[in-house]
Amino acid sequence: MKRIETLRHKMIEQKLDAVLVSKPENRYYLSGFTGSTGTVLITRDEQFFLTDFRYTSQVKQQCPGYQVIQISQADPIYQAINQKVTGTIGFEDDFMTVENYGLYSSKLEAEMVPMKRLLEDLRVIKDDEEIALMKQAQAIADLAFEHILGFIRPGVTEIEVANELIRFMKSHGASGESFEIIVASGVRGAMPHGVASEKVIQPGELVTLDFGCVYRGYCSDMTRTVAVGQVSDELQSIYNIVLQAQETALAAVKPGVTGQQLDTIARDMITEAGYGDYFGHGLGHGVGLEIHERPSINQAGSETLRPGMIITDEPGIYIDNLGGVRIEDIILVSEDGYEVLSSSPKELIVLPT
Ligand code: ZN
Ligand code: ZN
Repeated sequence: MKRIETLRHKMIEQKLDAVLVSKPENRYYLSGFTGSTGTVLITRDEQFFLTDFRYTSQVKQQCPGYQVIQISQADPIYQAINQKVTGTIGFEDDFMTVENYGLYSSKLEAEMVPMKRLLEDLRVIKDDEEIALMKQAQAIADLAFEHILGFIRPGVTEIEVANELIRFMKSHGASGESFEIIVASGVRGAMPHGVASEKVIQPGELVTLDFGCVYRGYCSDMTRTVAVGQVSDELQSIYNIVLQAQETALAAVKPGVTGQQLDTIARDMITEAGYGDYFGHGLGHGVGLEIHERPSINQAGSETLRPGMIITDEPGIYIDNLGGVRIEDIILVSEDGYEVLSSSPKELIVLPT
């Protein structure tokens, strides 16, 4: 498997004789295992999957190339590791609990070395298989958006909209939603993370929908803001400012720019339009097996974009007692620019009342 090869190159560079992986996203990335319990052990020339009897047959099905080691109270994991590894062993210092660290460091013969997000470094660049899965995850979300336009009308609650999105995405191949769906209508639109409530949607309101699904482990993420009937001139004007900022930042996506530079492009436009104080979050984030992962697309985003990264571009304006607008695309950084994975229209859609 190509990913394990790449990892082994890094292990040699970092003088690691083995690595121990149990964070679910990293474990899935290396093995394809979708169960909830198990530890991947990669040595310089072999790969093992350590799990209890509930999962041994699942590992055999899902993880070709792995040797399964069954662990139990009588055969604890550190004993199995000690039989396979001496020297140095990398562990996920951002994931292992303090309790497990104490146990492993007292029981393992190998020296434990923090991996410092080595797997996340690999995951930040998506391979062709991952890009295909991300495209499919986003295609399901785009279909759901088209569908929900016919569902949103005055009298429907935000929760009904969220539930319909989930139902639709699951019936089109998603395993679930990629985060708690945001449906924020009217004045609730001023809350950037206003998860769907019992509020009834009214004529003359904007409705912000921020949602995505999980498809074979990979997350999609999109935001559109739609009008239910005619909205005020001010909301219309805010919409146009956000859209312009979103599209200008998008046009600047290419290898070599940083997340901080993209954030600044959108932020300067919104500030010049007089709404700088109302754009209180970063422009975007990386997406993949996790809904929020590297690279950071905000003022702290010093990482340079490279082909194969997948990021979001999601400026917004939020005004208390008035409402809010956010527009979000998910974008693949390509060799010479970008490819937008979300296909839903971005001009303001006015739904019938
Ligand atoms: Zn989103
Ligand atoms: Zn997002």
